[in-house]
Amino acid sequence: MDEKQFLVSETALAELLSVCRYCSAECTPVIKFFRGTFIYTSSKCLNGHEFTWSSQPCHNTLPWSNLFTATAILTSGCNATKVLQVFKNMNLQMFTARTYNRLQAYYVVPSATKTWDFEQSQLLTEIKDGASQDVVVGGDARCDSPGYSAKYGTYTIMDLERNKILDFQLVQSNEVKGSSHMELAGLKRAMGFLKDHVNIKTLVTDRHSMVKKYMKDCHAEKNHYFDVWHIAKGVSKKLETASKKVSGEQIRPWIKSIANHCHWTASSSEDDGELKQAKWASVVNHIANKHENHSRKYPRCEHAPINDERLWIKEGSVPYKLMKEIILSPFLVKDIAKLSPAHQTYSLEVFHSVVNHYAPKSTHFYYPAILSVAALHFNENSGRQQATSKSGELQYGISYPKAKKGLEAVVKPKKTPPTFNYVTIIKQAVHERRSSECPSYRSAALDISVLNEDVPVPLTQKFEHFEKAALILRHSSRYARR
Ligand SMILES: [Zn+2]
Ligand SMILES: [Zn+2]
Repeated sequence: MDEKQFLVSETALAELLSVCRYCSAECTPVIKFFRGTFIYTSSKCLNGHEFTWSSQPCHNTLPWSNLFTATAILTSGCNATKVLQVFKNMNLQMFTARTYNRLQAYYVVPSATKTWDFEQSQLLTEIKDGASQDVVVGGDARCDSPGYSAKYGTYTIMDLERNKILDFQLVQSNEVKGSSHMELAGLKRAMGFLKDHVNIKTLVTDRHSMVKKYMKDCHAEKNHYFDVWHIAKGVSKKLETASKKVSGEQIRPWIKSIANHCHWTASSSEDDGELKQAKWASVVNHIANKHENHSRKYPRCEHAPINDERLWIKEGSVPYKLMKEIILSPFLVKDIAKLSPAHQTYSLEVFHSVVNHYAPKSTHFYYPAILSVAALHFNENSGRQQATSKSGELQYGISYPKAKKGLEAVVKPKKTPPTFNYVTIIKQAVHERRSSECPSYRSAALDISVLNEDVPVPLTQKFEHFEKAALILRHSSRYARR
């Protein structure tokens, strides 16, 4: 299984096979047949000796390298059509797209899913058997552009202390009323599954209103906090819009420090909701150069006296009113009390970018299996440390963030290179599935039809037929008109 593979050209192969195994006389090799990456040859010498040769081991009629090439395509997150085109451009003998799809569906996809299920149950058992079953988790949904094209929404729950994915749930848009309902449906399912394994003490999410209501009504015993970055970003956006209004330009220089104030408010107040609200509200005075007499709970600013020139906002002026309205909006202030003090959901964004690498769109046919691969990759690599040089110095890299339009460079700690042990584990699962569980296509097909019984009907099955017929009709009528 871990054998090396080599590219061999036709002439080199002919050279190898044109010497008789028995009498060393010259012989003529003939390729009897191909099967994807596999070839079977026969050579006959002048003295009438005949011998055959197989380019690789097979299981019954299935060449192992066909199966492992298909596994490699899925586990690397590459687009199969493109990879097959690469092989074609190289003139490398390969299986067809049809065979690829069959190998994926029968062997690779079920093995990837199984590997994740196993990894997940090990992780949950480890927590369950540990000193405490209490976990602090973050939850977030990934939906593709809402509306018709959003096939799946994925809800992911991450252990924010261990930095590991605990569960993800797929919700198809035809199962729920709309894509905004997907988020709640996914959270409910994930929490329902996890409740038998761990005790979710704290959940951190963005401010999705249905999730907010659900946690308040059905899980009042849990802490439900909001991710600071999401709130700070929301406020910044509103201030940005206000700064474009008439006489609003004075707002702009304050946007960054107000966002920072939001982060500071969250991290410096522990679980005191009222203190968070008081600290947050004080910024309205601060921008007007007033640093005392804020409130009983938070009487004065904690910063050192400010001596440098700042563009203070005059109390009662237009920009002051605009800012005050945004900062003290009752809807926002209510949520400020629930700012997450320590744990934020940034890692979930990182996971979403891993998913994007493996499947840029959720409409991918093997999306559930691809999510398993992404989760395996994330959990294996989430604890990576900063890399060090040979002499032991910490390593950094330079990047040019998009938000700064690539003009400003930032230094980031360089991580140790990722590992891919999960690929070997999936390969082992594929090997086991073919060699003992489903030794033929027929048994594999039967097995997946049983596995898929409780999976909802894919959207495409409902729409495709109708759509295609309609498109053909439209196409032909357009031509008829000419
Ligand atoms: Zn011979
Ligand atoms: Zn101040």
